[in-house]
Amino acid sequence: MTTDHAAPELAERAARLRVAVIGGGVAGLVAAEAIAAIGAHATVFESADAAGGAVRRGEADGLSFDAGAESFAVRGGHVRALVEDLGLGGLVVEPEPGGAWVAGIPGGAAPLPKGGLLGIPANPFAEDVRRVIGWNGTWRAWLDRLRPPLTIGHDRSLGRLVRKRMGDRVLERLVAPVSTGVYSAHPDDIDLDVAAPTLNAALTRAGSLSGAVTELTGGSERAPGAAVQGLSGGMTALVDGLVARIELLGSEVRTASPVEALDRDGDAWIVRVDSGRSLSEDAAGDRGETRSPAEDVSSQPARSTTDAPTRFDGVLLAADEATARRLLAPHVPALDAVAAGSSPRIEIVTLVLDAPALDAAPRGSGVLTVPGSHIAKALTHSTAKWAWLRSAAGSRHVVRVSFGSQGEDPATAGLDDDAAATLALAEASALLGVDLQPSQMRGSHRARFVQAQPSAVLGAAERRAAAAAAIAAVPGVGATGAWLSGTGLAQVVPHAKAEAERLRHALLWR
Ligand SMILES: Cc1cc2nc3c(=O)[nH]c(=O)nc-3n(C[C@H](O)[C@H](O)[C@H](O)COP(=O)(O)OP(=O)(O)OC[C@H]3O[C@@H](n4cnc5c(N)ncnc54)[C@H](O)[C@@H]3O)c2cc1C
Repeated sequence: MTTDHAAPELAERAARLRVAVIGGGVAGLVAAEAIAAIGAHATVFESADAAGGAVRRGEADGLSFDAGAESFAVRGGHVRALVEDLGLGGLVVEPEPGGAWVAGIPGGAAPLPKGGLLGIPANPFAEDVRRVIGWNGTWRAWLDRLRPPLTIGHDRSLGRLVRKRMGDRVLERLVAPVSTGVYSAHPDDIDLDVAAPTLNAALTRAGSLSGAVTELTGGSERAPGAAVQGLSGGMTALVDGLVARIELLGSEVRTASPVEALDRDGDAWIVRVDSGRSLSEDAAGDRGETRSPAEDVSSQPARSTTDAPTRFDGVLLAADEATARRLLAPHVPALDAVAAGSSPRIEIVTLVLDAPALDAAPRGSGVLTVPGSHIAKALTHSTAKWAWLRSAAGSRHVVRVSFGSQGEDPATAGLDDDAAATLALAEASALLGVDLQPSQMRGSHRARFVQAQPSAVLGAAERRAAAAAAIAAVPGVGATGAWLSGTGLAQVVPHAKAEAERLRHALLWR
């Protein structure tokens, strides 16, 4: 315990601490803020020309929007607490109530049924469920009510459990679109203990899967933990707020600073930044994004890296898994024994359209697809989902089309920007059920991402725990980011804070 007597000495020690944070996505920024908050000095090295990582701004036809993450889960309250702490509480907005649709079913598309959990219906006879799975699917799903629940052992695979109890139609038309949309993975690969930890026990209590879903959702139309919020003006306000806070605390964020290597000299860490490479080329390459300089609306200008302090007392890796493993390899050899997670490549093409036929939001806030039915994986009708964007867009519509998922590269991967926009327009037309012509497209933006392996994929939890243990065993080093916390800001934010607190404590008391 810290005594009053020890406090000044501790504060002095903290003021002398220098910590390098590698990666300026939300994880790195949250970690840097937690280090700076005790008076230590954090230097964030970010390879791109703007901080934020998967939370990034896009621009087309003079309109700014979220090109990556567009919301945060309310679950746990961590992101909301951070938003409030940064003084951004006034920007919090709810999505419009339109709800999503599912496409790739006979008849084209239908609203995603209300209620349910991970797409599993509470009542297979509900009209909105029947509309998607048909009478055959409904009768098959009803068998779930007759079968005794498995009481010895339980299914860890979401897909296996649903197929066994409710059949293929529920699995493919309801559960798979949701799991592909939320986790970028097929339900067969989803670990129930992570995605819905209480479901197996509820199934044993209730005697059926639909009964378990009813018990867990309490009959509510919204699944527990499914609520999301956004920020008026876009999620990048969170990034700007974090960067401003870090700088206010006397620490710094160095953009356009790709870390090439990490060396050790006794207790000190030496961060080697490749300042020789073209900053703008690096930035675009690392972010996997194509955009012209005129389109670049990043809020943090690129800075010189020549005066970067290179010796640090500790280092916190907050980059993607492949980069973190490469930089840590000489220092954490035990990581070699931990299998790397597969990281789906995702592309988002955002279209700004003149399309009065979309004024009525024909597919609510967007569309999830039955796997294999369309080239695109999902579509968000952003101006139907977010009122702030609708106001900014005036009569225009913003639609974002997602490509790629676990085990399947995005169909846009080999295309140039024009061809990718043309494909996105064709997919949008099919998914929205509205004829959209190239002449209606006022602008487009394309962003590429390598997503961390979703935390709910089978085996991911064990791999993450093993990787974290290997890293924690090496003094002076920490690691965070979606590959260790699980994807999604609701998981990334608390993990980054906890890991920064662990590292700063270890450095202060060594
Ligand atoms: C398209 C998309 C949409 C999403 N939508 C949502 C959503 O709506 N809600 C939600 O909660 N979550 C969403 N997510 C997930 C969420 O955005 C991520 O889990 C989270 O932002 C990851 O943060 P991170 O800091 O761990 O990683 P990243 O954001 O990937 O940041 C890692 C950073 O490290 C940098 N870096 C890499 N190598 C180096 C190097 N050598 N030197 C220096 N820097 C380096 C990268 O440039 C990057 O900025 C979405 C993700 C994607 C891809």
